[in-house]
This record gives sequence, structure tokens and C-alpha cells, in this order.
Amino acid sequence: MTRRRLAAGNWKMNGTGANLSELDALAKAHPTPGCDILICPPATLISRASAATPAQISIGGQDCHQNETGAHTGDISAQMLVDAGASYVILGHSERREDYEESDTDVRNKVMAALSAGLKTIVCVGESLSEREANNTLDIIGGQMAGSIPDVVTGDSLVVAYEPIWAIGTGKVPTLDQIGEVHDFIRSRLERRFGAGVGRSTRILYGGSVKPTNAADIFAVSNVDGALVGGASLSVADFSPIIAAL
Ligand code: PGA
Repeated sequence: MTRRRLAAGNWKMNGTGANLSELDALAKAHPTPGCDILICPPATLISRASAATPAQISIGGQDCHQNETGAHTGDISAQMLVDAGASYVILGHSERREDYEESDTDVRNKVMAALSAGLKTIVCVGESLSEREANNTLDIIGGQMAGSIPDVVTGDSLVVAYEPIWAIGTGKVPTLDQIGEVHDFIRSRLERRFGAGVGRSTRILYGGSVKPTNAADIFAVSNVDGALVGGASLSVADFSPIIAAL
């Protein structure tokens, strides 16, 4: 099973119209990329980014509401993301789980809403430092997968991102063995639950302090099908070598 690899950039709450030139430069640097490239800018930029960016770069959201419309001030639905030009959405990022107390059930509901709107979903899972130190990593990941991923996914519409919370924005990265152990575990859980077809075609990304200096080593680990990149996705100088390493 060959899975097309994915380099996904999460700009988080960074970027204004001035940063759209980064997308143009990224597209010029990778006219015919050997992997899928995705940028998830803040919601305010999705429409302009998707209109201005060549087709080899997909645009995505960083969250969506579980309902299609309604009295939810400040929220954005999956249909609105599609309307703005998004084709992916990141769901269950640890910053949303923490800042907004999003539960696995919340994430699952959002994934279902996103799938029915036609979006591909990147579902984030990951352990805290204390959970890793207590040797609970695989239990935590297994529980988050069971709770956050609905039954209706396909290998094309689901991407799982393993992001150890303690590695996000810290410069700390798990060992390659630790990454491999979790990615193999995620793959086996996907196969057990969804069967070989979905289980083997779903892409599993690593996220947490991916940089040009460590990308090639991480991408050589089994069952690592790409990266979800925060800080290093903000500039072409950093993101481009990560894409090239895939
Ligand atoms: P980072 O963030 O690359 O800045 O560590 C990763 C993420 O939160 O997706």
C-alpha cells in the first residue's frame, strides 16, 4: 500500500494578508511536489488563500463547529470552510482540547460534521509529559482514537496526527523509536477497527517540533506518512526543506 505523503502546515493564530506571499513563494518552490501540501491559515485568510494559491497546495481550517448553522457566536461550520475554499480541517488539536476543553466526543462530532460537508479531517491525538512518564502513552492514544474517530471514515478522508503535547512548540522531540512505537500502534488500531483497506490507506502524521534539521530522520520511521508542522510552517525557508524531505 503506497500512501501519498502529506506535509501539513498549521499557522495557528498567526498571519494576516501580508503573509499570503509565503504561499505564493511556497507554490513556486514546489511546482510539482512529490507529496501533498496543505496550509491551514487562520480562518480569516482561508478564502483569500484558496483563491490565490495554485492547486498543488491545499488550504484547510484549524477547527469547525459540529453544527451546520445556528446561534453559535464566533464559530465556523464545516460548510463555511468548504464555501471559503478549504478541503481539509484539523480537529482535536491539543491546544483546542486544552483551551476549549474539547472532549473526544466533541471532536468526534466535529469530524462527522466535517466529513458530511466533504472535508478531509486531520484528527490529532497525543499524550502529555506526565502521561508518558507514567507509561500511559499507548492507552491515552488508544482512548483518544476510539473516542474521537467516528465509524464512518474512509482512508481518503481520515488523517491521524500523532502530536505529543510536550513536543509542541518546545523543540523537544521523542526518540525515533518512541515515534515508531506510537505510529505502529496507531496503524494496528486502525486496521483492527476499520479493516485492512481503511487501516492501511489512512495517513499518520507526526507533529511536534518538526524542523528542517530533524525531518528526514522522522520521515524515515515506519508508518510516518508526513508531518503536521506549526512554527516551521510559517516561513518558506523552514517549510520548504521539510516538504523536500518527504
Ligand atoms: P510545532 O507545532 O511544529 O510548532 O511544534 C506542531 C503543531 O501544533 O501542530
